[in-house]
Amino acid sequence: MIDKNSEIVILGAGIGGLTTAISLHQNGFKNINIYERRKKTTTIGAGLVLWSNAIKILEKLELLTEIENVGGQLEQMQRWTNNEEFLGAINVNKINTSIGFKSYSISRKDLQTILLEKVSNLNISINYDHNALNISHQDNSISINFENDISVNAQIVIGADGRMGSIARQYVNGNNTPVYQNFVNWIGIVESEKPIFSEYNVLDFWGCGERFGIVPINENKGYWAGGKSLPLNSSFKNKNNKIELMKLFDSWSPKIKEIIELTEDKYIKYIEVFDHNPIPNWHKNNVCLLGDSAHASLPTSGQGACQAIEDAWHFASILEKSETTEEAFNDFQRNRFEKTTTITMAGRDLAKSLFNENEMYCEQRNKNAKKTDYIIASENIAKLWSKNLPK
Ligand SMILES: Cc1cc2nc3c(=O)[nH]c(=O)nc-3n(C[C@H](O)[C@H](O)[C@H](O)COP(=O)(O)OP(=O)(O)OC[C@H]3O[C@@H](n4cnc5c(N)ncnc54)[C@H](O)[C@@H]3O)c2cc1C
Repeated sequence: MIDKNSEIVILGAGIGGLTTAISLHQNGFKNINIYERRKKTTTIGAGLVLWSNAIKILEKLELLTEIENVGGQLEQMQRWTNNEEFLGAINVNKINTSIGFKSYSISRKDLQTILLEKVSNLNISINYDHNALNISHQDNSISINFENDISVNAQIVIGADGRMGSIARQYVNGNNTPVYQNFVNWIGIVESEKPIFSEYNVLDFWGCGERFGIVPINENKGYWAGGKSLPLNSSFKNKNNKIELMKLFDSWSPKIKEIIELTEDKYIKYIEVFDHNPIPNWHKNNVCLLGDSAHASLPTSGQGACQAIEDAWHFASILEKSETTEEAFNDFQRNRFEKTTTITMAGRDLAKSLFNENEMYCEQRNKNAKKTDYIIASENIAKLWSKNLPK
């Protein structure tokens, strides 16, 4: 069995790194150190949906009550055209019933706070301002050098350092370049004293090469993403986000304009969206990738964070029952590769369709969406997302 006192280093205090630390601790590993390049806790991004597959894991990590306290319970994922023609709705309750847990929308800030509080209660230390520059190994020990001239050794290193230049992915795979998927997202979080939402449905508006999605969290708070097919470094990058969004989505639903108007400028961000091609090997020596560094998927998959959370649970429970790290890492990848790859590819397919700028294509896509049997579509989503979940 792997020694429970093994020195474990986790690179990155994002969703994957923090949930892995909690899960490892739950499985008896107590010698865990997290290293994070940021100077302090910051939350990138506006919000996300913790679908019932991730909630099932978070319940096992004893975090369900905390999530329930701040999360919004979603009912439908409604699809509309930019002219407000209804295209149909994925039934979230169907997915929830099939997996056995509700799904919750949550702000990144709230999720991060919950995870950090848990990590702190477990006395797991987070070393901020540690930007890993390279990884090397000698015999059975891995050495990590940080920008602040500190270096640490560990028996097990978990690369949870995200999608945009993961040092761990560079070490394992020899290349860590993410793939730009030819669209950008403006993301924002909106909060208002007067109620903004009366129903807890995701509103997904489809244009032609453009898309706008709104996710309620509670009646006064929600998050949104406006997307557009654009090359890297487009002229939008240096413009005022709010003004540009108001122009871009001017003729769309009044709800969109209301939401953008209510969002403070400082809470709107312009993001060029990348993912990763699947790689055949997630580990080398005693370094194992998980979360985005192993399998970053597009926001259109809706599952990036949820899959990082699933990774955390599987990684720790496999490590706990394995004889060697090599056996554990092989089992972990075998267990996770197919599901995460399918999700990455599904995210790409949806993005290609949503950000296609050909009018004829978009018209046909919308017709197909209208003809879709949403009961079957909801069942298919549930089937994929429930794969390999713990009992
Ligand atoms: C625009 C956008 C919208 C998204 N929306 C959703 C959504 O609605 N639902 C969803 O499920 N997912 C969504 N995702 C995906 C989701 O954010 C990620 O899949 C998830 O955060 C992955 O967690 P992670 O811990 O692997 O990586 P991250 O959360 O990115 O964390 C990586 C951490 O590693 C740190 N780090 C990086 N390099 C180093 C280094 N060299 N040394 C030390 N530390 C380092 C970073 O600072 C960071 O804290 C979205 C992604 C994007 C880009």
